[in-house]
Amino acid sequence: GFKCGIVGLPNVGKSTLFNALTRAGIDAENFPFCTIEPNAGIVPIPDPRQDRIAAIVKPQKTVATTMEFVDIAGLVAGASKGEGLGNQFLANIRETDAIAHVVRCFEDENVIHVANKIDPASDIEIINTELALADLESCEKQLQKVVRIAKSGDKEAVAMKALLENKLLPQLNEAKPVRALALDDNEQALVKTLFLLTVKPTMYIANVDEDGFEDNPHLDVVRGIAAEESASVVVICNKLESEIIELDDDERAEFLADLGMEEPGLNRVIRAGYDLLNLHTYFTAGVKEVRAWTVKVGSTAPQAAGVIHTDFEKGFIRAEVIAYDDFIEYGGEQGAKDAGRWRLEGKDYVVQDGDVIHFRFNV
Ligand code: GDP
Repeated sequence: GFKCGIVGLPNVGKSTLFNALTRAGIDAENFPFCTIEPNAGIVPIPDPRQDRIAAIVKPQKTVATTMEFVDIAGLVAGASKGEGLGNQFLANIRETDAIAHVVRCFEDENVIHVANKIDPASDIEIINTELALADLESCEKQLQKVVRIAKSGDKEAVAMKALLENKLLPQLNEAKPVRALALDDNEQALVKTLFLLTVKPTMYIANVDEDGFEDNPHLDVVRGIAAEESASVVVICNKLESEIIELDDDERAEFLADLGMEEPGLNRVIRAGYDLLNLHTYFTAGVKEVRAWTVKVGSTAPQAAGVIHTDFEKGFIRAEVIAYDDFIEYGGEQGAKDAGRWRLEGKDYVVQDGDVIHFRFNV
């Protein structure tokens, strides 16, 4: 599964967000919410397409695809030097696939800010500096290693040395994230081997007041910083979300309607995390179960089959595929077949978002 780590300074609203996310897990119909560790939760990906498929197929149950969110608390300035829980914090981030960086954009004199003022630019810089310092250390170690090997003319070591000296180290010395660098395919492949923190896809979660969605200078600051790093921004009021999640279904619908919202803001956070990882969804639709599955964008049919079971990938023969729009328009599998919209695809087929697939395989 894929993992998104929630980071940020103390008292910015990380736990409030995490609790709302995991509560959303409990409420999702037919999904057995499970907590792996106290600070980790499996969250179903909200996808209205699945409900529309289920309305046609009328299965015994529906199962959403999921993503793991982890609340990574404990960052203080100096973490990269091992202060506080710093080392553990960095180790936890290293295990994630993406980072959700919560930034305080709400004013509340009852909630102490670690630096005594609401200053998103400074907050972001503190965290990003710690991450960059940790990467700087990794890169300096790597440089010492490759300098020796590069002397013997080893091509890869020469390329790594150049990349470190010309791009990575200068960037990190300015406390800037490696993900903001323009790198070619070769360089990206080399960077992958370094397991850096600042290459991880990142979104900023701007935690605003109830009335802070517009004309909010703090928010403008976050948007500006994100744009420079080509990171995304999700604007949310975590306090409101934690209230929404406590309501039962009817109350919630009414409450959201009053606010002029179509769905809880949490759904935007979950989907943004999914998009950040370059993931998309395909469906299996049988009478027993309609189920959503996650694949990396660009996955082939056998790779997609492998998400269900490794044997499906090994024994892959063909995929019976109906595009989501066709499945809905023609009222399911039989209708799609009658309309000539049912396809038999081979091992090179690249799975499209929303495809409804039945795999044929040898066991
Ligand atoms: P963490 O330390 O980053 O995990 O922060 P918490 O989630 O524990 O939140 C710290 C405090 O800020 C708590 O008292 C929350 O109730 C409060 N808080 C969180 N989000 C909001 C918000 O959007 N608005 C306001 N006014 N308070 C918030």
